[in-house]
Amino acid sequence: MEEQTRTIVQGSLNALLESDQFLPELQGQMRTQAFTSLSAILSTPNKIHKSFLRIPLDNGSVVRIPAFRVHHNDALGPYKGGIRFHESVNEEEVINLAFLMTLKNALHNVPFGGGKGGIVINPREYSEKELNLICRKYVRYFSDEIGPDKDIPAPDVGSGEREMDWMMAEFKKVHYGQAYLGSFTGKSVANGGSLGRREATGKGVYFTFRYLMNEYVKANEQMLASSDNAFAATALAHANRPLTMAVQGFGNVGSVAALEAYKSTEISNRIVAVSDRNVTLYNEDGLDIPALIHFTASNRGDLPATPAELDQANVAAEIRGREELLTLPVDVLLLAALENQIHKDNMKEIKAKIIIEGANAPTTQEADEYLSNKGVIIIPDILANAGGVIVSYFEWLQGRETQFYTEAEVHRLLLEKMKETMDAIYPQFFGDPFPLRQNCYIHSVKKLSTVLYRQGKLY
Ligand code: GLU
Repeated sequence: MEEQTRTIVQGSLNALLESDQFLPELQGQMRTQAFTSLSAILSTPNKIHKSFLRIPLDNGSVVRIPAFRVHHNDALGPYKGGIRFHESVNEEEVINLAFLMTLKNALHNVPFGGGKGGIVINPREYSEKELNLICRKYVRYFSDEIGPDKDIPAPDVGSGEREMDWMMAEFKKVHYGQAYLGSFTGKSVANGGSLGRREATGKGVYFTFRYLMNEYVKANEQMLASSDNAFAATALAHANRPLTMAVQGFGNVGSVAALEAYKSTEISNRIVAVSDRNVTLYNEDGLDIPALIHFTASNRGDLPATPAELDQANVAAEIRGREELLTLPVDVLLLAALENQIHKDNMKEIKAKIIIEGANAPTTQEADEYLSNKGVIIIPDILANAGGVIVSYFEWLQGRETQFYTEAEVHRLLLEKMKETMDAIYPQFFGDPFPLRQNCYIHSVKKLSTVLYRQGKLY
């Protein structure tokens, strides 16, 4: 497992042990042994499945595409997590992401374990027919591992409803006669998906930020006024002026979260910058997010990248280099692209006081420590971006019952679930020596330790 993941697991485990919350019913040697077993279980995935997908291309040639499915831990329920379609996917990364899913589901009390998949392709380079074949072959190769009570994949970077629809159809064919609606989540509504699933991650990301700002910061205004906490300083400043925000990534997570921020009447935000794989767009008076979303919908998801395209989109902005977004002088930085975006080479240039992790693992361990020590508040991935998997859980439930909820109901249930988690985590934050990420990990690992102990696995 990647060095970084190991450090994170060990750090949370040690913190848990120190906090005296680790299996208080055990003492002495039994407790030490249980702790050693828990460390071993969490730092290694249960199973790694890998294969090459042999795909005949439209031009007559044949390619062999590496593909993975990692089962990290299933103590809390069937393995659950997306399938990433990206040219840089590798085994270590998928293991790391599967581990984050174990922690994410435990944190939010979602009855699933952690899994993740990956297919090493740039989906933009394949025709629809080729992608369809890749999806179907993936399901065929891993068909024994997947299923509504075994492992339930979902979309991730580079995949979406279309791919889940194809995959579910293949699952149905391979396992003819079995229940299939719960085999994949993130499907289209027409094909048994849930209303509200598409927007769930982005909405949840913004909701987490708003809830932390509104409920806790306001409730503790007096106490915070006397602290030098950067979150407090920013929150108090926002009473007098809009908070400036930069959003890295304008895909399914970034664009929806940006729209939520743009529309929000409860917190005054101004989105001064957004970026994607090509450019950063900057306007200190604020960007027209709905116009940008409208443009990207007919431009294969890409933001306007030339003055002519900006005119076409009817958006006023300066075009800057893609990387520039991260170091802009803004209050809030919302990361919604890929992992390892803030690292040792750019951490000292970061000016934001609050970082929201819409993507999984966008901040390296070193940068996380450096920025936290400087008083920057990082709202961690497993807390902020769980909206997707939470609504996946609702989709799975709806599929089992073949009873479907309204969109309003899905969003109400989503916000309620995220609120429950924050109410459990955040009050501890004040006066607590651990940063928010550590608090979340301690909470997840504590839950996993109790369940694993009761299942008789910690000897
Ligand atoms: N890929 C998303 C994540 O990283 C969603 C996973 C799911 O819905 O299972 O949380």
